[in-house]
Amino acid sequence: MKIVSSSPMILNAGETTSVEQPERPKQPQIESATRPTKPRIRYSIIAPCWNEEKNLPVLYNRIKMVMDQTNDNWELVLINDGSRDNTVRIMHELHLADPSVRYIDFARNFGHQIAVTAGMDYARGDAAILIDADLQDPPELILEMIKKWQEGYEVVYAIRAARKGETWFKLFTAKLFYRLIYRITDIEIPLDTGDFRLMDRKVVDTLKQIKERHRFIRGLTSWVGFNQTGVTYVREERHAGETGYPFRKMLKFASDAITGFSYLPLQLATLLGFSIATLSGIGIVGVIIARIFGNQAFFGQATTLVMVLFLGGIQLISLGIIGEYLGRIYDEVKGRPLYVVNEAVGFQET
Ligand code: UDP
Ligand code: MG
Repeated sequence: MKIVSSSPMILNAGETTSVEQPERPKQPQIESATRPTKPRIRYSIIAPCWNEEKNLPVLYNRIKMVMDQTNDNWELVLINDGSRDNTVRIMHELHLADPSVRYIDFARNFGHQIAVTAGMDYARGDAAILIDADLQDPPELILEMIKKWQEGYEVVYAIRAARKGETWFKLFTAKLFYRLIYRITDIEIPLDTGDFRLMDRKVVDTLKQIKERHRFIRGLTSWVGFNQTGVTYVREERHAGETGYPFRKMLKFASDAITGFSYLPLQLATLLGFSIATLSGIGIVGVIIARIFGNQAFFGQATTLVMVLFLGGIQLISLGIIGEYLGRIYDEVKGRPLYVVNEAVGFQET
């Protein structure tokens, strides 16, 4: 097992490092002309996979059909995020049949956002395309994204015009989530977009420098800036298998997004503190006046109890919010690698 930091040093064909080379005797010209040049990879398709054995062969076929139309060199970077089924075996078979399929096998499940991050670390294309492995994102849309990229946009995200086959609960919480994020964060995250997007090499290289662990990738791609645009599509039903995002993971995802991009929850405690202090100030004046004018039975025991419990509740919630941020700070400080790779297959050849 080898531990990989989140940014392996990868050079594109033709690129050189900035390290100065010692002077060497001049080589005859013929030597460099006969040396085989590595083919440059134009597009990297990155698909994180968690128990996707039934979807992978279909995904590969559809991506191949689409990408071959570009007449450019492309690679499919798959990440096995600790699947419990035969996902990794199928990845290996696909790789043996077509070496442009490469895969990273994680030592355990690290989560969707981290899997995508690993894909970006290993991808070598001039443009990277993030796509779900369950075929909810139609690969055919990639051609439209490429067109926009060629027009000069550095990020082309896919906007979900409609979503098929999702429960009303998922649709409702997703709608709420995107609107909440839009409201309370400082950066403009486009509404109803997932991770399905194309990113220029400049954007990928910038994202590779961002080491934060609780990653909300669609937020980070907005944060980097550059020219961005969207293409709309209808999100299909999952081709096979089950969702890897149960409610628990959705909550974690949402809190990562909020804490990663907003201080509002922390400021809420200050706001509540000031409001309650003001209210109780008015209350004190009211009680004094009532006493002066001889009204003895102003507050009962029940009122006192309710007020104390109410305040106790607010204090605990505020502490909990601080805890959410604190825990994340602790995670960052520990500085563990973002993921552990069991095996990275197919990246050495070209
Ligand atoms: N996924 C992953 N690790 C996880 C959960 C999901 O790599 O822990 C992958 C999954 O295989 C899929 C993508 O992330 O390719 C999106 O997940 P899913 O389709 O389960 O989410 P949903 O579309 O239901 O939101
Ligand atoms: Mg899905």
